[in-house]
Amino acid sequence: MKDEIISLVQEMIQNRCVNPPGNEMKSIRTIERYLSSFGIVSEIFEPTPDRGNLLATIKGSGEGPSLMFGPGHVDVVPVENEDEWTVPPFEGAFMDGCIWGRGAIDMLYIVACQAAVFAHLHSEGFKPKGDLKLLVVADEENGGELGAKWMVQNHPEKVKVDYLVTEAGGNPIGTNLVSFIYGEKGTAWSRMKFRGVEKHGSTPFKSDNAVVKMAEVIQRISDYQPPRDTSITKPFLKAIGIGGVKLALLNQPRTLGFMLNRLAKRSKGDAALIHSLSQMTWSPNVCRGGVKINTVPGSAILDIDVRILPGQDEEYVRKHFRKALGPLVDDVEIERMKTDEGGAFIMGSLSDANSPFVELMESIVKEIRGPEFTIVPMISSGATDCRFFRQAWNTQAYGFSIHDGSLDMATLLSLFHGTDERVPIKTLEMTAKGYMELARRFLA
Ligand SMILES: [Zn+2]
Repeated sequence: MKDEIISLVQEMIQNRCVNPPGNEMKSIRTIERYLSSFGIVSEIFEPTPDRGNLLATIKGSGEGPSLMFGPGHVDVVPVENEDEWTVPPFEGAFMDGCIWGRGAIDMLYIVACQAAVFAHLHSEGFKPKGDLKLLVVADEENGGELGAKWMVQNHPEKVKVDYLVTEAGGNPIGTNLVSFIYGEKGTAWSRMKFRGVEKHGSTPFKSDNAVVKMAEVIQRISDYQPPRDTSITKPFLKAIGIGGVKLALLNQPRTLGFMLNRLAKRSKGDAALIHSLSQMTWSPNVCRGGVKINTVPGSAILDIDVRILPGQDEEYVRKHFRKALGPLVDDVEIERMKTDEGGAFIMGSLSDANSPFVELMESIVKEIRGPEFTIVPMISSGATDCRFFRQAWNTQAYGFSIHDGSLDMATLLSLFHGTDERVPIKTLEMTAKGYMELARRFLA
């Protein structure tokens, strides 16, 4: 199975399904061919030419919950500068115990492991209680419109499942600790429009200047502290070994700010992570205003990247904008960013952080990595394909894989969308073994 997984990863790297334009059918056909060599018939869906999704099912007896491998995406992000790579990014080279290339870690290795485990379970005549599904999709790197979202909207009866495992997870976050992902924050990108009165720039006294209003609002937004909520960061902090008074202060919404400032002196990255997972964040990132040096601007526009915790909605965002803006609120028009500018509103979502399924994932990690290992619940600060399943059916969706530990957290994270992306062969073996055990035990 190991050699099959390696050659699947290599072939998908060579297929270069860079999104845009994607052309994911190349890698969908790779998986289809592989499965058919085991006598497995897959269903192929092609919402637009050259871009598609694959679904295969091992039918269960109906006596237990269903499980999906995936959605696993085969599209990859572009390579900005090929010269910076140690090896060419689309050859799938083998070096130093790793397969190198764009997509290796995000997330072709998971697709390959899941396809191989699925195929071998099928060929040994696996008879699960609940259905085992394999879903491979296009377009995750650009919002999932033609991939996971399209499948959930157009073929809900085919992809509805109780549980799923996909990217990412298994990242080392401390000695003998690895993460699994059980939720994600939402996105509420917002635009503010400011009006003023145009007049000659040489006589600005008492003028109504749209850019000056925008500047005041930017300052108010930056100074505003939205409510804090430590329910998501609590288990993480405990797991990474923070205890005693320090933990108590970090767990108190009232003292968290003070503690984050202290923590930032030691580790800016940790502080930023805890900050983002304990509150709604907003970052004013684009501003435009004025047209000419000698004219007082009559309009200005400000785009704000807003990220919300699970449970927070658009009304929540508006309420806090109103509070932050105070008396300036009447001078501002606030709207949702347009969908074609990436502005679709996305709620955050969560699955259970504690459940028999989570315990099963942990016992498998202990068997494969060692009894000293513990898994730690984390949520992702950005959106993933899991949200479509959680929203449609409250599917228990987890980022779960097993890294071999040879790459530390910082290196691993730098490989996602980064230079010299690669995956260790041992990670392939451990992840495949993990999925095999998960399916066998959970569906038995
Ligand atoms: Zn990915």
